[in-house]
Parts: sequence; structure tokens; C-alpha cells
Amino acid sequence: MISSRLVSRAAALLLIPLTILAVACSKEQQTASASSAETKAVDAASPAATSTPPPPSAPTGPKPNIDGNHVMQYVKEVVAIGSRPVGSPGHAKLEQYILSKLKGVDVEQDKFMADTPAGKFQVNNIVAKFPGRKDGIIVVAGHYDTNYPLPKSYVGANDGGSSTALLLELADQFRGKVRDGYSVWLVWTDAEEAFVTWSDTDSLYGTRHLAQKWKQDGTAKKIKAFLLVDMIGDADLDIQKETASTPWLSELVYQAASNLGYQSHFYQMQGRIDDDHVPFLKIGVPAVDIIDLDYGYNNVFHHSPQDTIDKLSPQSLAIATDVVLETIQLLDAR
Ligand SMILES: [Zn+2]
Repeated sequence: MISSRLVSRAAALLLIPLTILAVACSKEQQTASASSAETKAVDAASPAATSTPPPPSAPTGPKPNIDGNHVMQYVKEVVAIGSRPVGSPGHAKLEQYILSKLKGVDVEQDKFMADTPAGKFQVNNIVAKFPGRKDGIIVVAGHYDTNYPLPKSYVGANDGGSSTALLLELADQFRGKVRDGYSVWLVWTDAEEAFVTWSDTDSLYGTRHLAQKWKQDGTAKKIKAFLLVDMIGDADLDIQKETASTPWLSELVYQAASNLGYQSHFYQMQGRIDDDHVPFLKIGVPAVDIIDLDYGYNNVFHHSPQDTIDKLSPQSLAIATDVVLETIQLLDAR
């Protein structure tokens, strides 16, 4: 893995000028506090503060509407399959698992052969479509493959598992209803991960294909917003402000978090992150990456065998799911 340039919160203020530099590496980012005021807020919450911090289990905001344990159960079932890189038995099992949860739903499978540095592989984006009365589509996406080069012991509980589970929970929320707002399409994206080394050509295979397909068939024009979720289960949830994301949509996510009282989990740091939203930004679709790439001290659990279920919390999964649902409501009302 490329060495992380994730900036520790303590050093964030000193390194603010780094935010002007863009990087294009696998989920690598330059981070810094969004503002000095927010840095103070972080400092006040640090262990060095004189007031006693609440115990980790204490509720810090309103109760999530979503049952985080239910989302966590999905993560557990996904992780129990084992590693799920493209072309593996685990990947095939997970495809079947996702499809089994979408019975009765309008599902489109976007299957194609990807030419990768490790050979040709079948890639499959799974799209579940939930109709709405408003003309337009909101896409919520997250990848379900796990990192290809890592050993079989790698299970990607957060990186791959959490996004898969959040989308399964959303399917449960939308199933069997016609929405008053926009149609919502859930996309389990495939082959997000690089096969050898992250580059523009060795990464994001699924979404690069899907973006071109939707550009050509006219779907892209109907998409009001593309919400990407990635690595949103960390028990220490701090969603970064991803600076390539469409500004108004990024602000809408923050407004949704604020409406629910979850804003302390959002945008304390910011940085540029290459992820599945980029191919859609490139074709002019408003897109935002909702990601916590500060996973363990100095992001040490990312792409590590330590990306296991014990690092995740039901509360974080519920917060992320709630904020996505609230963002959809705000989009409906726009
Ligand atoms: Zn990854």
C-alpha cells in the first residue's frame, strides 16, 4: 500500500496548506482541518481536555432511526463469507447473497469483462431500482469487492463490508413502496479496488464502465445526485469532506448530518480522495463521497488484515445510514 499521508488531528492545523495539493492515489488523501474553529472543537474533545469525556457507549446525539444492529448483522454475514476479491469464490457467493436479498425488486446486472494487469475478469455492478413519483433518479452506491492483491485472511469488514451492508439496509427501507420523491437506485459497485497498483487505469473498473453506459443510454442526465458510501462503519466515525465532490451536494450531506445532530462526525478533516464517485463527476453527474479514511491511528487498518468486524460499531453504521436517508429527503425537497 502506498504510504498514507493522512494527517493526524493534532498536526492538522500546521498542515492546512497541503490541502491545495491534489493527489490521485488509492483512497489516499491530504487532510487538514476544515477550519481553525473546527480544530478547536477537535482539541476540546481530545483526551487532553480537562473535562471528563463521556464513556464511549454514551449516546452523543439523537437515537438513530435505523437499527444499527440490523446493519451490523449484514456486515457479519458478508464478512463470514471470507475474502471477496473479483474472480474469487467469495465474490461469487456475495453476488448471490446480495441478489437473494433483492427478491421482488427490479434488479439490473451490469456484467462485463474487464482487462486488468492481473488478467481478464468478469465484473458485475448490481443495480436495484426503487421507483418514485418525481422525475429523476438518486443513486446510492458502494463497492462490494474486497482488495484483490491482499491475502485470503483479509476480510474487509469496513472496506467493502460496511458499504455492502448499508445498501442492503436501504433496500429493506425502500422495498415494496413507491416513493413520493425521486426514484432511488442502489448500486453495489464492483472492482473498485486495484488489481496490482492503484492508477487511473487499474481501479474503479465497475463505475468507469457504468458511467459510460449511463452516459450513452441517457440515464446520466436523469441522475440528480450520486451518493457514494465507503468505509462508514468505523467505531470512531469521522467522515472527511472529500474535496473533489460536488460542493452543493457535499454541503447537503453536512446539512443532513446537522439536522440529525450528527455533525460532530462530519468534516473535521478534508482531503481529495479517488473513489467510485470520480467517473460520475467526469460525466457531469453531481456526486459526493461519504468516506471515513481515518481508520485506526494513521489509517493503519485500511487494507490490513486488521480490517475486522471488532473495529466497527452499530452506532456508526446507523449514523451513516440515517444521514444518507436524510440527504435523500433533502434532495426530494429541492
Ligand atoms: Zn480498499
